[in-house]
Amino acid sequence: RHTRFRNVTGVQTCALPICPAGTIAEIAAARLLGRGGAAFPTGTKWQAVAARPPGQRFVVCNADESEPGTFKDRVLMEGDPFAVVEALTIAGFAVGAERGFIYLRGEYPVATARIEGAIVAARAAGLLGADVAGAGFAFEIEVRRGAGAYVCGEETALFESIEGHRGEPRNKPPFPVERGLFGSPTAVNNVETLANVPLILRDGASAYAAMGTDGSTGTRLFCLSGCVERPGVYEVPCGTPLRALLAMAGGVRDGRDLRAVLLGGASGGFVLPDGLDVPLSFEGARAAGVTLGSGVVLVLDDTVDLDAIVHRIAAFFRDESCGQCVPCRVGTVRQEESLHRLARGGDAARELALLTDVASVMRDASICGLGQTAASAVQSAIALGLVGAAR
Ligand code: SF4
Repeated sequence: RHTRFRNVTGVQTCALPICPAGTIAEIAAARLLGRGGAAFPTGTKWQAVAARPPGQRFVVCNADESEPGTFKDRVLMEGDPFAVVEALTIAGFAVGAERGFIYLRGEYPVATARIEGAIVAARAAGLLGADVAGAGFAFEIEVRRGAGAYVCGEETALFESIEGHRGEPRNKPPFPVERGLFGSPTAVNNVETLANVPLILRDGASAYAAMGTDGSTGTRLFCLSGCVERPGVYEVPCGTPLRALLAMAGGVRDGRDLRAVLLGGASGGFVLPDGLDVPLSFEGARAAGVTLGSGVVLVLDDTVDLDAIVHRIAAFFRDESCGQCVPCRVGTVRQEESLHRLARGGDAARELALLTDVASVMRDASICGLGQTAASAVQSAIALGLVGAAR
């Protein structure tokens, strides 16, 4: 994959022969969906920013990859930093932004060094600055490093952090395409989403859309970890069955029996061995009642203590809640307490009812996606009989 979009001069060969509107039309025709978890159409997002009244606007690359079990963006940035710089420049060109930010996870020193090196090289080659590629448009990129808060992967908390404030999500609406970074229209895209952009412009939207499924075009990166023979990042066409992905990675380590797969990370859900034929597309996962999230595939064999995994997930959300809104601040604590009581042999019916109640309040009343999904994996484990007295 890297050789297909490593060329730093790709900006000149890809985007500039077509106008900003043509660039957006090509991305829209490719039906590129965001790879950060929300699966929002990238062309629609760019068009919404481009259509705002003239004035300052921004593009932001969300490289604050913090979902437990996710490391694809790190691999992309370390292996092909020019793809990110090039794609963000194309995004700026398309929406009319003169400044872009890459908000990079603080725990990624190698990726940071390579991205910063790529920015310096692009600037030296005339592909950033006052006159990008001699085409008469200005664009500059700044790197901002995150400080380890999971919630700063949420786009509005990320804006707050870049602006120098505490990383707390904002209420939406207004959405970032209307009022985002520094109050200006902003297009935020995940690293993997952006890495697809030069490919689409080089090969054409129809070639890109020919890969994957109707509802999920192109390929996806998945992070395989846990009890699997060959952990790592795998790129497969969208719609590939989970079973085939596991086979690519050599299956369950040491030939042991599979207990479950945690799909989508801490905010995702569990898949049992009889569910491995789920297609890894947005619509296929949705139909099966799971989510692809940011591409986590955590393999759990028959030696793994599922109770401990679920407790760890609950503790993670309790730790990472920013505390701004009550449903999440209190709900994540109550969820963890209830799981502990359940594990100690408490009244199962009472605790399961309480967990369901807390989950629905967090899902319906939390300000941001952290609180809205903080109970997803716990509820999935309960529904599948993987945890506590429900087992
Ligand atoms: Fe903060 Fe949680 Fe509310 Fe999000 S849902 S704003 S993380 S308290």
